Amino acid sequence: MATSGSGPSTPQLARIPHFPAAPAPQPVTVPDGPSAGWYSAIPTTQPIAFITIDDGWTKVPEAAALLKAANVPVTLFLEINAIKSDPGYFTALEQAGATIEAHTISHPELKGKSYAFQHNEICGSADQLGKLYGRRPVLFRPPFGDKDATTLKVVHDCGMKAAFFWKETTDKGIVRYQAGHAVKAGDIILMHFRPAFVDDFLAVLQAISQAGLTPARLEDYIA
Ligand SMILES: [Zn+2]
Repeated sequence: MATSGSGPSTPQLARIPHFPAAPAPQPVTVPDGPSAGWYSAIPTTQPIAFITIDDGWTKVPEAAALLKAANVPVTLFLEINAIKSDPGYFTALEQAGATIEAHTISHPELKGKSYAFQHNEICGSADQLGKLYGRRPVLFRPPFGDKDATTLKVVHDCGMKAAFFWKETTDKGIVRYQAGHAVKAGDIILMHFRPAFVDDFLAVLQAISQAGLTPARLEDYIA
């Protein structure tokens, strides 16, 4: 039962689509080698899409109840500096179906930086998230989606499997498409912890539903 005042409103809850059950996952195998995989979408024909939520600065109180009501998996790429004021906020989201993955300590531009610099930011964030939440991340998103060959090598060396860009972005309740006007099978959708979190999340759910897709867990698709 949501605490009075901290849950989504009844009209907001009414905007949550009903999704068909997600199919049994058919994971992609990350290529063997010295570098992590890099994906903007998961190559699949299964009718699924992936919701990812970055950073963690704005902690709207409705998020956990909204996620629980929607009953869909989401992946959180959390920045240590953004979450350290209130790590427990994200524990509640984990309990509502989120999986926590890495997004650096201080959100720097990584592209062009040294191996040591990138190692500190990438491994350091995975180590700290592992300590905070009891599960060490296996996925990574570089700040701003910017990476170079060193980034993918460091992600691999830090014990993670893959790093991610995206196909759609969401802000102020609007989903923006890089190509076309609909979410496609396997697309990775980006949103952030922002003041419009509730509207952003509902817009993402509706875009996935209108495309005839169901949210799936990104971790289930990376072998
Ligand atoms: Zn970010």
